[in-house]
Amino acid sequence: MLNLVLFGPPGAGKGTQAEFLIDSFGLIHLSTGDLLRSEIADGTELGLKAKSFMDKGELVPDEVVIGMIKSKLDNNRDAKGFIFDGFPRTVDQAKTLDTLLNDNGTPMSGMLCLEVEKEELISRLLNRGKISGRADDQNQKVIENRIAVYNEKTLPIIEYFKPQNKHFGINGMGSIEDIAERIKAVVEKL
Ligand code: ADP
Repeated sequence: MLNLVLFGPPGAGKGTQAEFLIDSFGLIHLSTGDLLRSEIADGTELGLKAKSFMDKGELVPDEVVIGMIKSKLDNNRDAKGFIFDGFPRTVDQAKTLDTLLNDNGTPMSGMLCLEVEKEELISRLLNRGKISGRADDQNQKVIENRIAVYNEKTLPIIEYFKPQNKHFGINGMGSIEDIAERIKAVVEKL
């Protein structure tokens, strides 16, 4: 089983690159951002709670996203593997995922960390905001807060996984195809 974490700041291209990995390796895509947006679209209680955090560029509480991921793992017992996109985003989420996967006997295979410069992130997100209409991509203040939250709460996850030697830095600048090739080269070795 191949369990990949696609890691990197907002706008790094995680969702775009996940599409390539699904096609190439037949994995199930678990994006907490997409799952939360679908809860909002369905008008659920969970969605309502999450929206207030997402609109400000803050993280949704750990127990909410961990609950969503747990139920997805339980419902897909026969999967060939998963791509976790936008999860984990805190060290507590990382510890929980690590434990869940180890307990299932299907440990994490690797963490692919897309590295992109801040100016490029902001420009990609503002562009996406024009196309997708995502409110959190249309406000530069919210975008800057998401990047700050990433640096403060999400980046320390790298230190958590480092002792396991599962962290792979990938240059996330350049064309979508070139980045996909860089990722593929790493995944094929796993
Ligand atoms: P991006 O990577 O562009 O920020 P996402 O779609 O992954 O976009 O996430 C959008 C928002 O959803 C985040 O800013 C955050 O509020 C919330 N979110 C997504 N995943 C998580 C998570 N694992 N933990 C907490 N909040 C999350």
